[in-house]
Amino acid sequence: MRPLTATIDTAALAHNLRVVRAHAAGARVLAVVKANAYGHGLERAARALAEADGLGLIEIDAAVRLREGGYGKRIVLLEGLFDATELEMAARCDLSLVIHGEAQLRMLDEAPLAARFDVLLKINTGMNRLGFPLPQVTAVLARLQQHRAVRAVTLMTHFAAADDARGVDWQFASFSTLAASRQLPGTLANSAAVLRYPQTHVDWVRPGIMLYGCSPFAETSAATLGLKPVMTLASRVLAVQEIAAGDSVGYGSAFVADTPMRIGVVACGYADGYPRHAPTGTPLLVAGRRTRTLGRIAMDLLCCDLTAMPGHGVGTPVVLWGEGLSADEVAAAAGTVSYELLCALAPRVPVIER
Ligand SMILES: *Cc1c(COP(=O)(O)O)cnc(C)c1O
Repeated sequence: MRPLTATIDTAALAHNLRVVRAHAAGARVLAVVKANAYGHGLERAARALAEADGLGLIEIDAAVRLREGGYGKRIVLLEGLFDATELEMAARCDLSLVIHGEAQLRMLDEAPLAARFDVLLKINTGMNRLGFPLPQVTAVLARLQQHRAVRAVTLMTHFAAADDARGVDWQFASFSTLAASRQLPGTLANSAAVLRYPQTHVDWVRPGIMLYGCSPFAETSAATLGLKPVMTLASRVLAVQEIAAGDSVGYGSAFVADTPMRIGVVACGYADGYPRHAPTGTPLLVAGRRTRTLGRIAMDLLCCDLTAMPGHGVGTPVVLWGEGLSADEVAAAAGTVSYELLCALAPRVPVIER
């Protein structure tokens, strides 16, 4: 079999949840498991995160799977319903619904007569994607609180810049003003706000990326934050080429050697979820030692520099990201974020649970 595997360390997931708790002791934790738990496997993540107070995700089919699989705590559809035909299923599975716009508000009128939903009123405090504008919130809240299909309302907003210098104050201030006069639970914090802005923790926090052992911050490593990597993408060297100065490596001859080199060819490519745009120099571990990719990433293969590692060749283990090399670092080298790498793990990669 092809030697590429993704190992998922479920104990690390549980550990990272404890890191969330340590930061947000007074709040309940809605663990975000959208996009197949950021590529880690929904059911697996739900099991490893059993101590969380609820799960948040986007995909209703996945939410139904969780409920039918026996998950008994809160499940929140983070973008609510996309169509009124989903109301019945949502009611049957007791899914909590974000209401971010007028169309969703009107959908509630079509709810089955016996249906009672917990809803999260999403307020646009500056992200300017989903949510009601501030001047509409009072009226919308009144409509929700009088609605026959609504059992309880939570106030929600999402931060645009909790991970960078702009911070959250500019959004938090308007949320707080709105929430102050109302005795309703609130939810604001993503991972970055869990770690950096305790004033935003209030009733429910919504961590995603930190549970998977990656850092939401460009300048602070996951290890510094006490997080453990959950996914390790590992493979082996399939072939070795000895090349001369002037020889090139891979498609487009994108890398040209200026001295004699030893090239390792690794079983991993963009069809596995490794980013094709990772440039020459992107880090990887060979036999636990850090080296660099060379040339273009192909569909099934990538090449790396073994020149300084004469003892290693065909069969030598390789870590693309995970234990010993954070996905954050690989992502940064490739001009993206770890979120994208984790989510992109392809279905063809066998997953091993540990
Ligand atoms: C994805 C998501 C989160 C989690 O964000 P992280 O940066 O991964 O912690 C929180 N809230 C909402 C609404 C989301 O869609």
